[in-house]
Amino acid sequence: RVLVVGSVNVDTTHYVERLPGPGETVLARRTLVALGGKGANQAVAATRFGAEVRFVGAVGADASGRFALDELHRLGVGVDEVRLVDGVVTGAAAITVDAAAENTIVVAPGANATVGLDDVKTLDLGVGAVLAQGELAAEVVDAVVARAAAASLRVVLNLAPVIGVAPTTLALADPLVVNESEARAVGIAEDAADVDAWLAAAAASVGRLARSVVVTLGRSGAVLAEVDATGTLRATHRPAFDAVAVDTTGAGDCFAGTLAAALAEGLGLDEAVRFAAAAGACAVESPGTVGSYAERAVVLARAAA
Ligand code: ADP
Repeated sequence: RVLVVGSVNVDTTHYVERLPGPGETVLARRTLVALGGKGANQAVAATRFGAEVRFVGAVGADASGRFALDELHRLGVGVDEVRLVDGVVTGAAAITVDAAAENTIVVAPGANATVGLDDVKTLDLGVGAVLAQGELAAEVVDAVVARAAAASLRVVLNLAPVIGVAPTTLALADPLVVNESEARAVGIAEDAADVDAWLAAAAASVGRLARSVVVTLGRSGAVLAEVDATGTLRATHRPAFDAVAVDTTGAGDCFAGTLAAALAEGLGLDEAVRFAAAAGACAVESPGTVGSYAERAVVLARAAA
């Protein structure tokens, strides 16, 4: 069981020949409306991997909010703790993608910005892991992590985007999960040019920044570093699974959600990262975000290959 505290958006993606300039109007060739937001995406990924997932967040009391709730529910995510907020829009992203796959994105936080300390004060912590991201206020993430750690729960913190959480929050992350640019922003490495440099940087961050660290490196896979059961610092590179990438949107979310689900089952970090990387490889092979997340059986087969 996994508790996800995070953002919910409704993403509107317009596929255009070229991005409009200032003052310009262009016609979309195709438009898709879909569930988004890092919190929602990761909750779906954890569910696909077989976890029972409860989601804590907020949507507007509008048509978008109902759509987002219906989608989460349809995809198997528990939404009893999602608050409906009057007078505020549901979080939204307006995305344009041109023929060369270049994009522009405008995000309206909407109801996500109303998630506050009251939403997490009385959390039911009967879960194996708690998963949070950087799309809520830093003080909310701080409170969630502190409560989860006090209850001896495994805290998976995907600090995307990097926000100013307390150093004590980072210190409790087990693991802190970031991509390369986030890893630079959070101080794992100023500059790491290759996998070996990332391995060293991740190892040096264990204990200094976070309890354990995972840096995702796109098609180069991921590095993980932790102190194992015997007290030994171990850093490992998990290469990516071969994939023909058609749309990498949401791969990082798929990775984080799968990782949290695997850790909640009691798997070790090494094995959990293997499953997360397999799920990430599946996710880049078809278009869309949550629509491209594979089921557990498919991920397990991929991981065994
Ligand atoms: P983000 O989308 O947050 O930048 P990454 O691009 O690092 O995250 O991707 C997350 C994970 O998804 C990677 O660690 C890797 O395991 C998997 N992945 C991403 N891109 C590919 C790819 N082209 N081929 C195979 N696996 C990939």
